[in-house]
Amino acid sequence: MLRNLTCPKCNHEMDEGSISESTRLNYASNKLTRPFVGKFVPLAAARACPACGYVELYLDPQRLTQVLGQ
Ligand SMILES: [Zn+2]
Repeated sequence: MLRNLTCPKCNHEMDEGSISESTRLNYASNKLTRPFVGKFVPLAAARACPACGYVELYLDPQRLTQVLGQ
């Protein structure tokens, strides 16, 4: 799923990891109308740059497409 391992901010090699289950971060599109129940997409993967601290977060794009009804 993740391909580019170079930091987009400083070009350092990035470290791949995951979101801690204790934090449970979810994404909700601005295209959705409330209530958001059942429409949140959990974040599935993360990558961090050891040099500058930049963090990227990823979700399941198929799940987002389902939620958006596309
Ligand atoms: Zn960086």
